Amino acid sequence: MTSRRDFLMTVAATPALLRLRADHAVVVRGGTVYDGLGGEGVVRDVAIANGRIVAIAPRVAERGAEEIDAKGMAVAPGFIDIHSHADGSLADDPRAESVIRQGITTIVAGQDGSSRGVDGPDSFAAYLTSTGALKPAVNVAAMIGLGSVRGRVVGQDDRPATSAELSRMTELVDRALQAGACGASSGLEYTPGAFASLEELIAVCRPLSARRLPYATHMRNEDDRLLESIDESIAVARGARCPLQISHLKTQGPRNWGKLDAAFARVDSARKEGIDVAFDRYPYTAYATGLTNLFPVWSRDGGTTAFLARLADPAVAPRIRTETLAKVDLIGGWGNVHITSVRAAEDRAAEGKRIGAYATSLSADPYEVTIGLLRRSAGNVGMVGFAMSEDNIDRILAHPQGMVCSDGGGFAIDGPTRRGSPHPRGLGTFARVLGRYVRERKALTLAQAIHKMSALPASRIGLRDRGQLAVGRPADVIVFDPSTVADRATYEEPFQYAVGYRAVIVNGVIALRDGVRRGEGNGVMLRPT
Ligand SMILES: [Zn+2]
Repeated sequence: MTSRRDFLMTVAATPALLRLRADHAVVVRGGTVYDGLGGEGVVRDVAIANGRIVAIAPRVAERGAEEIDAKGMAVAPGFIDIHSHADGSLADDPRAESVIRQGITTIVAGQDGSSRGVDGPDSFAAYLTSTGALKPAVNVAAMIGLGSVRGRVVGQDDRPATSAELSRMTELVDRALQAGACGASSGLEYTPGAFASLEELIAVCRPLSARRLPYATHMRNEDDRLLESIDESIAVARGARCPLQISHLKTQGPRNWGKLDAAFARVDSARKEGIDVAFDRYPYTAYATGLTNLFPVWSRDGGTTAFLARLADPAVAPRIRTETLAKVDLIGGWGNVHITSVRAAEDRAAEGKRIGAYATSLSADPYEVTIGLLRRSAGNVGMVGFAMSEDNIDRILAHPQGMVCSDGGGFAIDGPTRRGSPHPRGLGTFARVLGRYVRERKALTLAQAIHKMSALPASRIGLRDRGQLAVGRPADVIVFDPSTVADRATYEEPFQYAVGYRAVIVNGVIALRDGVRRGEGNGVMLRPT
């Protein structure tokens, strides 16, 4: 008895010896296992070895070098964020803290028409290689950005592409897909992507068709012309014969909240026609974008310098002002415009404030305050606008074609990525869906939510071996408590991690356990298979 106890104490104190004795790298014990396909959970042990799931059984007899007690917890496929901007900070901080700590094990980058890897025929492959070399904590898949492609080939101006330019753009998209891009994205409220016509979008999306990869679009308009924009998006997919992913579907501005039924009707009738339409959404009533987005697209033609010059040009400044004030009115006034980041150090005091209150505190006109901020930061000012309906979020998330996206960046509460006052979605999205929309609002079931965060997005972008808990699959596995999982990040104090996660495992290696990060970055670049 004594010798056995001494032996056990020895192995407990000697991880290397324990690892020699263990049969598996990790065994997750007694959790309620969700397969990601939408099925209800069943109590199972899950064993992981050599980066893969090797057993899912009522009782795994063998021991793991790491044993995780998951009783009362949910065990699910690691979440896939189908519209993420978190790749942008991986060079500064590959830990991807805000991502891992909400259970995301794969991000899908290259969104809103903006991607890297457009500088030459083989540059998308180089981009994937260099991102992988950062040893990110999270897996990364990426789309090719059609706005970046247009910027590279046509430039920043508002003019149609020549037929030679159209061929070059289409060729760049095709080469990126060959290199492993998992779709093509557009950002039609941003320049220069906004200058693409329907015909151009159809042409550059044609290479998606044979691969069944999606055209993902931040549509031309998400408020008064929402329905026309959905029609245009569907027309692109119809013309190019490719799937359509409407990015962060929303009905912006209270006067447009009633359009959701009509939006769904368009999606449903397109699907009946055989067009594969789906969409994603983040679980917040405010959106985030650049402050320049309040200004009409035509005023931004040619880039930031031209835009700032027009603001001072008496021939067009009054019209810019009128159209901008109409947009601000649409989202409910300056009190609904929250400044998230500025580049100019002298304007740091504006970060985290609403323009309405900030202008009042300066006894200044809010439009003039806005222009001053943009000028001093050379256009680099971030904003959050409060303009969405929470009931519509319930319905968008619950719709069979609805998925979850963060649309957020990557942050940490320490280090170089703690900067500005970002939209809380970058730190809270997936936990917020589980806590607020599943547990509190009961907009969807836990099994449905997990499906929309794992197998559904995986199949959307051709990642056939991800997003499911099944023997033989790569072990992206998370363990969380459905009764406590929650977001903590707020608009006022965004730098707070989500809570309720017991473990996050990326490619078979524990990245987070009981609040403690560990290990080298174990994420890999994922390409459609
Ligand atoms: Zn977007």
